[in-house]
Amino acid sequence: MSTLQHFVGGRPLPGTSGRTAPIYNPATGHRTGEVDLASPEEIDAAVAVAVAAQRAWQDVPLARRAQVLFSVREAVVRRGDELAAVITAQHGKTLSDAAGEVQRGLECIEFACGIPDLLKGEFAPQVASGVDVHSLRQPMGVVACITPFNFPCMVPLWMLPNAIACGNAVILKPSERDPGASLLLAEIFLEAGLPPGVLNVVHGDQVAVNRLLVHPDIAAVSFVGSTPVAKHIYETGTAHGKRVQALGGAKNHMVVLPDADLNLAADAAVSAAYGSAGERCMAVSVVVAVGDVGDPLVEAIRLRVDKLVVGPGEDPASEMGPLITAEHRDRVASYLDKGADAGAITVVDGRTTTVAGDGFFLGASLLDRVTTDMDVYRDEIFGPVLCVVRADTYNEALALINANPYGNGVALFTRDGGAARHFEQAVEVGMVGINVPIPVPVAAFSFGGWRDSLFGDSHMYGAEGVRFYTRNKVITTRWPDPATSRVDLGFPRPD
Ligand code: NAD
Repeated sequence: MSTLQHFVGGRPLPGTSGRTAPIYNPATGHRTGEVDLASPEEIDAAVAVAVAAQRAWQDVPLARRAQVLFSVREAVVRRGDELAAVITAQHGKTLSDAAGEVQRGLECIEFACGIPDLLKGEFAPQVASGVDVHSLRQPMGVVACITPFNFPCMVPLWMLPNAIACGNAVILKPSERDPGASLLLAEIFLEAGLPPGVLNVVHGDQVAVNRLLVHPDIAAVSFVGSTPVAKHIYETGTAHGKRVQALGGAKNHMVVLPDADLNLAADAAVSAAYGSAGERCMAVSVVVAVGDVGDPLVEAIRLRVDKLVVGPGEDPASEMGPLITAEHRDRVASYLDKGADAGAITVVDGRTTTVAGDGFFLGASLLDRVTTDMDVYRDEIFGPVLCVVRADTYNEALALINANPYGNGVALFTRDGGAARHFEQAVEVGMVGINVPIPVPVAAFSFGGWRDSLFGDSHMYGAEGVRFYTRNKVITTRWPDPATSRVDLGFPRPD
């Protein structure tokens, strides 16, 4: 059994708190190692290292910073399989899913390679007589990045490339459940030429997080995780004067209109509901079947669910892996009884799917005739349970989505351009897919939901990421009239 240590100042640092958390291989159920959990004192020491490194890093020319990012990109491409293997071993998702996660993270590195362009300020000459104004964006200082278990590589890469390219130093506090990918990323950044101390990984639980939230030298906090924790992070961080973006949970709907391509919609529902065992903040967890599409759609989904191969993520035949822990698997499974007790129809019960061994597996489940007052509809289940809600009209579907407390992602399946256009305007959700099951925006855009899916006013990565990790400064300059200057210009002064 290995112990994962912190990574501070460019090298592994053993924990001193005496506290650790277990790491499992979710496909076998075996404990494979443990990770050190930082004390407040260890956080303070890591922040001090980051403060010193940041002072030098902010003066490194943009061209050099971009070169480091280009080298990071090359290393992530080269070591992509290694990253995917670590993700699958600790998270459980299939290797192809893990490789997809690395690829989406790579996009964010590529975006940050354009930092010399992204940091260009503005200039307005002659705003008054002899007066010019220009603006520049400067780094925030030391940034804390706190990430969830479900994308152990991609979510850190939503944050690190922009934060570092903008001249900040980072304390990354990954999920204690699968911290291996973050350590590999730290090693990759170091080998790519990032000075030691600019990127530090400190493991921990709420003790570490709560110290980061009040530490006077942490200037900004990027958080992704569940809604109650996101709210806590936002409220505590901002109360201590920090800039905070805190992305929370989700309950994503997929509306299917009667004119939709049924096969396309059913394929999309299955891949988006059960991919990564439903442990995605952009998973479809509710299909809203409008009008008479309900019965054929439920049947089309059922046929596909029956064929879904559940097994270890390392097995290329597996299409869905285990859940992250036994406790989470049992919690997700408990919703199947809750749904049935409340009157939902169990079309497929994932508990009947068995995989040999002690892995944290639960098969895909499908519940029909779910209503908005049921727990299975109201709670973020975060597992392979898809609920179908029936709606008589498009308007009814739209109204229930807009009434939901979450507003992360949504999708509409239709062939009707007018309906699609109305939907994209009227739906109160941050990220919308038309015939695309819950799209994660490409890196040139930014990622963020509305309402309880995001606290703060800044979305993640893309241009909003660059703004979040920098402070704007405006300089107003008055130039003396050249006629009054005593400097010899070497040519006749203008009249
Ligand atoms: P989580 O909220 O339990 O943990 C996220 C991070 O917060 C971890 O690093 C954890 O150590 C820390 N943490 C946990 N409890 C804490 C507490 N009480 N005080 C301070 N810090 C605490 O989330 P998770 O289970 O790791 O991830 C799944 C959740 O993340 C889901 O709700 C999912 O929807 C959400 N998520 C959202 C997005 C998004 O973009 N909106 C993306 C990925 C995941």
